[in-house]
Amino acid sequence: MAKLGNPQETIQILQKHDFHFQKKFGQNFLIDPHVLDKIVEAAEVGKEDFVLEIGPGIGTMTQYLCERARQVLAVEIDSNLIPILEETLSGYDNVEILHGDILKQDIQGIADGYNGGNPIKVVANLPYYITTPIIMGLFESHVPLANITVMVQKEVADRMKAEPGTKEYGALSLAVQYYARPYLAANVPPNCFIPRPGVGSAVIRLDCLKKTPVEVQDEGLMFRLIRASFNQRRKTLQNGLANSGELNFSKEEIGRAIEKIGLPAAIRGERLGLKEFAALADELVKGKDGKKDE
Ligand code: SAM
Repeated sequence: MAKLGNPQETIQILQKHDFHFQKKFGQNFLIDPHVLDKIVEAAEVGKEDFVLEIGPGIGTMTQYLCERARQVLAVEIDSNLIPILEETLSGYDNVEILHGDILKQDIQGIADGYNGGNPIKVVANLPYYITTPIIMGLFESHVPLANITVMVQKEVADRMKAEPGTKEYGALSLAVQYYARPYLAANVPPNCFIPRPGVGSAVIRLDCLKKTPVEVQDEGLMFRLIRASFNQRRKTLQNGLANSGELNFSKEEIGRAIEKIGLPAAIRGERLGLKEFAALADELVKGKDGKKDE
């Protein structure tokens, strides 16, 4: 089978199978060999590695991955792409195609079954409509992960690596940086895809941390605080948290906790890093525990 990765081969295979793009699946196929090389290089895939690919499309990046990895599992939701993948990947004996929705897969089972429970690498040109659920689902599953190298909307990549106080900084920055260290590998313009997406894209590698950068008693509470602060970005931290339906603290309790951790009363959430959100969550837990004892 011919090597994919250029417009001619891609169009030929799509026409042969009378394939029609489905917008609902976020289908934008890569047609630029330089970008494909960049992604597999950024992912640091080697002969020992098992790679989980999300959304292989017609198998373009899958071919690149098969040439470098020990084993590839490619999970594709669109049944119309399965016969195409069987054809384009027929020359490789180290790939399996799984027809299904990545959000419904047992990723731990995959890591155990294909990689003896060792950290896996995930590589994908992601469907943009579910970028966040896919990435957060991987992190929150607590499956052993080495790194996740993904093509995402440029704006999403900027948010993932943003620092406190910038306009891109938000709940996604904190959530990603709690689990991983982000590294921007490439910016990718729309003409590298067929059809062309309406937005710029970027390849980002998330190097998964063995240990979270902060310790917090109640991780769930910390993330509720983070979400609530950024849902009401224009408000002060105290007002934003007091008004949130997701939380159950009075304005006074929040004010006291902010003061206790040494922050100014009128601070905004966008100024806080993970360390401060963790301290705030711990202080609020302490306040509630103290009340129970009274
Ligand atoms: N990897 C291919 C490439 O780079 O040319 C295709 C990338 S395209 C942006 C996204 C792919 O993900 C499509 O093939 C789409 O059908 C698939 N997809 C969309 N939602 C999915 C899901 N929930 N689970 C698995 N695959 C999905």
